[in-house]
Amino acid sequence: MRLRTLEIALEGLEGFGRPDARIEQYVTPAPLAARLLHHAHLLGDIGGKAVCDLGCGTGILACGAALLGAGRVTGVELDPDAIAAAKRNAARLGAGISFVQGDVRDPGLIGGLGSFDTVVMNPPFGAQDPHADRPFVDAALALAPVVYGIFNAGSLPFLEAYTRERAALEFAIGGFLPLKRSLPFHRRGVVEIEVEVVRMRRR
Ligand code: SAH
Repeated sequence: MRLRTLEIALEGLEGFGRPDARIEQYVTPAPLAARLLHHAHLLGDIGGKAVCDLGCGTGILACGAALLGAGRVTGVELDPDAIAAAKRNAARLGAGISFVQGDVRDPGLIGGLGSFDTVVMNPPFGAQDPHADRPFVDAALALAPVVYGIFNAGSLPFLEAYTRERAALEFAIGGFLPLKRSLPFHRRGVVEIEVEVVRMRRR
């Protein structure tokens, strides 16, 4: 599937009904989601693979992975309303995805998921809780040997320090996340933040 075709398919998906700022809910824009997945696919990490989307929200990354021919896709998410929207999105695309409601910080939940080839995720950036992305990194590396995560631009050195012996990291692609004024503390209409997709390979 071409990048543009994937982007158009993801463009039409439903977002969060009432985004919750405390758990940093925002949808990855379709162009960025499509580029992340397309890049991962070209590196052989999606087609035919078992893919897990951590903090899947309304499921854009999970749906895109399914459209690119992932062997099986699982989405994990705290918020039942987001899961309901993700299920509608998957149904609309005819994508077979399993959704699991639970907390990424729960080792019992993560341990019970089995293993995957690839994790894709757009975790909370820590705007509310400075280390909110750490349990996502830990869970991702426990679940799969290859992880793609969206982080604030400039996070690579911190991620390297945090993961150290556990993974080899590389910058995959850069982009912008336009955060719409969906959250009460946003003063401007749209705030664009620069992000980077980091690929982690478990050592
Ligand atoms: N992956 C989606 C949503 C990104 S927003 C997308 O790319 O569009 C981050 C998501 O992580 C939100 O849906 C939020 O509800 C979820 N989340 C935050 N903390 C979580 C936790 N501890 N466990 C599971 N999901 C969590």
